[in-house]
Order: sequence, then structure tokens, then C-alpha cells
Amino acid sequence: MVHEGGNLQLRADETPVAFCVLDTTGTITHASDPELELLGYHQHDYVGRNFLEFDVDPDAAELTLSRVLAGEDVLDHSARLRARDGSVRHTLRSLSPIRLSGVIRGIRCVTRDITEATMVAEVLQHAERHLAALQKENEVLRARLDDLERTNPAPARAAAHSLATILEATPDLVATFAMDGRVIYANSALRHFAGIASVERLRDEPVSFFDFVAAGQGHDLTAKLRSQLREGRTWTGEIRAPRHDGEVVPLSCVITPHLGAEGEIELVSGIARDVSTYKQLESELAYQATHDSLTELPNRKLLTRFLDRILATPGSDRTMVILFCDIDNFKVVNDSLGHSAGDKLLAGVAKRLREIVRPADVVARFGGDEFVVVTEGVDPVAHALRMASQISRAMALPFDLGATGTHVTVSTGIAIAAGGDDSAESLLRDADLAMYKAKELGRNRAVLFDEALRALVEDRHETESALHMALDRDEFVLHYQPAVDISTGRVRGFEALIRWNRPGAGLVPPSQFVRIAEQSDLIGRLGRWVIRRACEQMAAWDRIAPGLDFEIAVNLSGRQLTTTSIVDEVGASLDLSGLDPSRMVLELTESVLVESLDTALDTLRALKALGVRLAVDDFGTGYSSLTHLQRFPIDILKIDQSFVAELETIEAESSLAAVMTGLARTMGLEVIAEGVESGVQLEALRQLGCHGAQGFLFAPPEPPSRSRRRLGSLLGL
Ligand code: C2E
Ligand code: MG
Ligand code: MG
Repeated sequence: MVHEGGNLQLRADETPVAFCVLDTTGTITHASDPELELLGYHQHDYVGRNFLEFDVDPDAAELTLSRVLAGEDVLDHSARLRARDGSVRHTLRSLSPIRLSGVIRGIRCVTRDITEATMVAEVLQHAERHLAALQKENEVLRARLDDLERTNPAPARAAAHSLATILEATPDLVATFAMDGRVIYANSALRHFAGIASVERLRDEPVSFFDFVAAGQGHDLTAKLRSQLREGRTWTGEIRAPRHDGEVVPLSCVITPHLGAEGEIELVSGIARDVSTYKQLESELAYQATHDSLTELPNRKLLTRFLDRILATPGSDRTMVILFCDIDNFKVVNDSLGHSAGDKLLAGVAKRLREIVRPADVVARFGGDEFVVVTEGVDPVAHALRMASQISRAMALPFDLGATGTHVTVSTGIAIAAGGDDSAESLLRDADLAMYKAKELGRNRAVLFDEALRALVEDRHETESALHMALDRDEFVLHYQPAVDISTGRVRGFEALIRWNRPGAGLVPPSQFVRIAEQSDLIGRLGRWVIRRACEQMAAWDRIAPGLDFEIAVNLSGRQLTTTSIVDEVGASLDLSGLDPSRMVLELTESVLVESLDTALDTLRALKALGVRLAVDDFGTGYSSLTHLQRFPIDILKIDQSFVAELETIEAESSLAAVMTGLARTMGLEVIAEGVESGVQLEALRQLGCHGAQGFLFAPPEPPSRSRRRLGSLLGL
């Protein structure tokens, strides 16, 4: 049980443990003597400061603190702490909350010094015990050895031999020296490191330990070192020392003064380890954390840091340009050619981008198939556009991805820093938005972010929030458009098409809100509502005119496919309305299939397993190949209205619609033509063997009451 105030102080003072108490902001309120000793501080310059100030990596320490404050009980983290003399102590810190009546009032932080342990634990032990004695006076030892040897030679020689062997065999650098710096003994590893021919040579050509340190590090450190040793305290830290070949190498050291009988410093021992490999590993780790391993480009984290730094530099923020590039249809390459081809493509794109930019520019991999180029130009807009066209030219050559060369295009969004309150985040967001606009306009192009786009975005935000309320207020309606069987002229079914009865705006067509709903995750709820309502409507018509067995088509968006609940939702709606699943058609646009991943394929299979049928909507407008489409369990192709319109002027046999119906036949699919507006078109479709037709020629999409009348008249009711 820990009590408040004075008691905490008491415990902190009495405990032999290095330990401090923090308040909830991390400010040190108490520190135990061992803690102060560990870092060389006094109460007055330690207590009252924030504990993060002493950590080499304050971010990690802060994270631990916040986790403890958030309620985690005891958290250990390894911390490198800056001591008062500038050296770094490797420690293990345990943070635990101090709770009073259940509320966290402070943090207890216990610190364990593992500097020695991590460095040279075993050697240190040996050295501590034997080094001083061994090195004290070579002559004394030798005399005694001689003496012993005469009486009892074997064990003495063995003892001396084993100590010497340990010191000479260890890869750590070991030395003893006098307070004036004169090296008395240097072990084999150190002699090799410093290029000292032999121990004996040290006597003839004295080497100063302090000169050795100063050569790599300067005199500041040697002064500090000297004064600490004079106080009788061990110095631990890192020095940079010159190796015999001239290279300066980081050494992690423990330097200990050894006192004689009178309390005077008799000898100093130093043990050091070459930590250059560790250092290299450390910098490699830092590199890995900020670079993408596939393309070796800076990652999003480093890019953002870099952008923030540029933006903080006065002046440069007015000439900076960001190009946000996204590979078009990357998923198709990945899906159809495999992930290793996808990786190859990404690496290839990265390489070409790097070749285009100037040395001072930055190319980063933002994520997935997105790359960001940061560049500067006196006329930023002109420069950005030039750069964008260079990029698209560079992509035009085929990429060698194995079997065949593959062409790709990119869509690029450009944002120009305008000075003022630009941030990395806002610029990247603008560029990303412009990139989306480029995709919308048909891909393979660059779009400059401007105020109009910003206005569009704001407009979109407004629509988005209105959409959220629209569902609750029941502002959506479904209209139904019949599709007729071309050979019999009878209604074969209806397609449900959503409209938004937006107050003050009239009946809003889906082109103005479905995409926004998709982007804002609202599509899940909206789609659920459409399916449910369409099924109810069908059931109602069935009650009026039973046995007609016409089908109902519902449009699905790609986003709905990636949520697994769609299968359950369709199943539940069918169950509730009692409809035969074979009467339901789910329409997916071709682009959804082009972009869909394997997970979408699983969902489509599960939907098929319910017994419903699948149609490809707007067929011919996407970029899908026959082989790609064959992977999907589809039943119906809906030829896009643009190909139907062509039939007005082009001979049926030579039209694209002819190619499509031929294709559908070989795949065993039914074909429905969309947007049929004239008898000429209908006749051509009949010739081509098209099964169904839908369009203004028969009826526009209408509210259910009107469709009911139409159904009635068709039935002769
Ligand atoms: P779609 O599924 O291809 O629907 C056909 C579109 O063509 C409808 O536009 C329809 O009004 C229009 N149309 C029908 N006959 C003719 C004609 O003879 N000539 C011409 N020029 N157009 C005709 P609408 O209702 O504006 O819907 C547009 C798109 O919005 C739909 O294209 C569909 O992709 C999407 N959509 C509609 N309802 C929903 C829905 O509930 N969910 C989802 N995810 N998308 C929907
Ligand atoms: Mg449709
Ligand atoms: Mg369509």
C-alpha cells in the first residue's frame, strides 16, 4: 500500500533501489539516492524536471507513460538515459501507476542499470577481481611467482596463466593505466586495435590513454573523464577512438578508478567493446523504419517528416509541388499476373520515377500503388505539369514482368504549396483528392488541385451529412424500370433504381449521391434498405398478380461486396419477403469486377450459392478482358447504352454490340440491352439475338404506383 506525500518521500529515500516518483505529466516529484547516483544528479537539478528530458528516446518513454496512465499495470521498457556528465546509461525502467481511491495520481518508476550487463559483464567481473592486483606491479608478481615456483611451481603458474589467458583471449579491449594516462597494460585485443606491437613496447614507448581518447573525441571528454575518475567514480559511456588503420570506431567503455590503501587512486582500469556493428545495425533499423524495403524509397512516415521540415523553412513553401501518382488498374496486374509481378511493377515504377526527378527532389512510396514526388520550381504550376507529362511518358514503355511486357498508366494529382498554413497532411490530402478526380475523369491523366475542386469537396461534405439524415428521415424512394423479353414483348422484370427526395432539391438522381455514399461508408445502410424495399415491393406485386414470376434487379456497389454481411442481408430479405431467390438479379458494374479482389470473388460465390443471379452492368465501358470476366460466376451481360445508341447509325453486324452478344453466347450468358430508345435499335438487337431490352422505348423508371398500373395493363387487368 502506498500512501500520499511524505510517505512516498520516505520510501524513496530509504530504498536501496534507483527509483523515482512522477506525477501524471511525467514531472519527477521524488527521486531515491541510488537513482540520483546512477545519473550523477542532485535533488535540486533532477526533481522538478520531466523524466522525458533524460531519455535519449523520449517518444518511447512517453508512449510507456501514456499506456500506464491509460490503465496498464506494470510496464517495462528499456531506456537509454542521459547522465549529468553526458554519458548514456542503458537501463530497464518499470513504470507502475500509483492509485489513490482507484484514481491514478502518479507513477512509480524503478530503474535498473544494465549498462555493464549489456556490455561486458563477464570480463568486468574478472577484471574487477583480478586486474588491479595482477597489474599493480609486474615485478612484485613476478618475484612472488619466482618464489612460489621454486617451492611449488605448478599451481601458481597455472593460476597466473589462466588469468593472463582470459585477458589475452577476450575480444574486449582491456587496459590499465596510471592517473597521468600512462598505459601500463593493454591486452591483445587492444594492442591489435591500437597497433601496439607488444606489452613490452609500452615500457619503451609510453602511450597515454587520454591522448588516445582525445584523438577520436577531443579534449572536452578527457577533461570530464579525468575529473570523474579523480572523484573516485566509474565512468561509463561511449567514446570514438582511432583504430590503427585510421578509422574512428565507436567503443562502449567502463573506466574504473581503483583506490589504494590510503584512498589514493592507484590504478585505472578500462574495458571497452567495439560497438560499430551494433551501431550499424541501429542505423539500418532506423533506415528500415523510414524506408520501403521493396522500392527502397522513403516511406510515408519519412515523407511527412520531410514535408513538414520544408514547410517550416521560410520561402521554400511557395515553390514546392507535390505530385501524387497512383498506378491505374494495379489490382488487375496483381490479380492476374500474381503478387511477384505486382512487386516487380512497383519496383519498376519507383526506378523510373527516380530517374526522372532531379537530385534534390524526393520520391516516396506513400502506400500500396501510390507514389509521391516532391519537387520545387520557380513557376510551380508549369513545373508540376511538365513533371506530370514526363512521368506519364516514362510509364508508356512496357514493363518487363515475366511472360509479356505490360503497359501501365498512372493518374496524378498535383497540389501546390500556397504558403501560409499549409501542412504536410493538408497538401497530401489535396493532391490525393486531385488524383481521385483524375481517376474519375478516366485515368491516365494529371489533375491540378484548385479552389473549384475544394468547393466540390465542400459541397460533397454537405451532401454527405445530408445523406446521413436522409436515411433516418426516409427520404429515399425506388423507381422501377421494366425490362422486356425481345422475342415475346412481355415484361420479364423490373430494375430498382434509387432516387433521393431531398427537401428543397426535388428528386435527386443516383449519379449525384451514390458515389458519395460509397466513399462515406453509408452505402452499407443504403444498400441494405434498397434490397429490403425492392423485395417488399415484389412481394406486394406478387400478391396482386401471382404466378407471373418476373424478376427484380437491384444494383450493388463494389463497396457492398467487401462487407461479408451482404450475403446474410440478401438472404434475410429474400426470407422475409418469401421470394424465390432465382427471381432476384444483382447488378454489378464492370469496373467493380475489374477492380475487385479475391475476397469479392468469394462473396459473389456465396451470393450465387443463395440462388440469386448476377449481372454485369454497363458492359463494355470497363477494361475487362474476357478471361478476367470468366473468373466470375455471372449469368447476364447488360450492354451499356452507349453501344445501343450506336445501332442507330451502324449496321448491326459490324457494331460493337454484335461483338458483345457473340461473346455472351460463347460464355453462355443472357444479354440485356440498356437504354433502348428507338424501334431501329430494338430491331438491330433482335437481329443480334439479344434476349432482353430496357429503355425509354418501353418505359422510363417510374414510381411503384405507376409500375403497378403498367403491370396491370400488361396483364390486361
Ligand atoms: P444503371 O444500373 O445502368 O441504370 C440505368 C440507367 O439508365 C438509369 O439511370 C436509367 O434511368 C437510365 N436509362 C434507362 N433507360 C434509358 C434510356 O432509354 N435512355 C437513357 N439515356 N437512359 C436510360 P439512373 O436511374 O440515373 O441510375 C444511374 C446509375 O445509378 C445506375 O445505372 C446504377 O449504376 C446506379 N444506381 C441506381 N440505383 C442504385 C442503387 O440502388 N444502388 C447502387 N449501388 N447504384 C444504383
Ligand atoms: Mg443497373
Ligand atoms: Mg447500366
